[in-house]
Amino acid sequence: MTGLTLLFGGSFDPVHRGHVETARASQHLTGACQIIWLPTPRSPLKARTGATPEQRAELLRLALADAGEPSWLLDTEELRLPPPTYSIDTLRRWRARLGADRPLAFLMGRDSLAGLAAWRDWRRLCEYAHLVVASRPGHDAALPTEIENWAENRRISRAELLQSRPFGSLLLLDTPPWPVSSTDLRAALADGRQTSDWLAPAVRDYIDHHGLYLEQGHDQESHAS
Ligand code: ATP
Repeated sequence: MTGLTLLFGGSFDPVHRGHVETARASQHLTGACQIIWLPTPRSPLKARTGATPEQRAELLRLALADAGEPSWLLDTEELRLPPPTYSIDTLRRWRARLGADRPLAFLMGRDSLAGLAAWRDWRRLCEYAHLVVASRPGHDAALPTEIENWAENRRISRAELLQSRPFGSLLLLDTPPWPVSSTDLRAALADGRQTSDWLAPAVRDYIDHHGLYLEQGHDQESHAS
């Protein structure tokens, strides 16, 4: 297999339709031959939710089974690494695994691109992979100047993606909007509101069976990305 591999990392706490449909659209638009879903240890900056890494991985397993995309794989390796974990190390590991010539891209939503300057060694991410950035409703404001300047010479079109080097560029995709976040869904679950528009039935069943997300989380102080 020599096509593009998309890595999709996140806390997926819980995985929702915004993740699944954004991944599907991004694969369609880039022609990627596979998507590797990478649940990460939850950022210490984000609220504690009570769902364990194993439960988040199980929710992903159920969501991927529901999505029915044979080219999607779940990789839980990162969950077993001692924290903190950083995306730069993930990309370095995947580049070593795939060799120098295989095209590799890190998929993220537009909110993640806007916050990229807080990530460890963010300017070096493209030494290992392309960045493919999907639309995210509510996050289409101008990028911070630092990111915009960095992005300027790296931006390429979809057509250029597979003709370019196997890493090093930035592709902004116009994906359909999915106005949902895991934070919204945790609040909906804690309040007993319906979630069927956003969670796969098997994901919701698992959440109910294990009594997950019955309380709102509590924010922590430091951050790793
Ligand atoms: P939280 O609300 O807990 O911060 P989240 O919904 O943003 O979670 P994450 O697991 O943190 O979900 O996101 C993983 C990746 O998926 C990030 O790159 C994020 O930008 C992207 N993403 C999440 N939700 C959407 C969405 N609705 N549309 C497009 N991209 C999304």
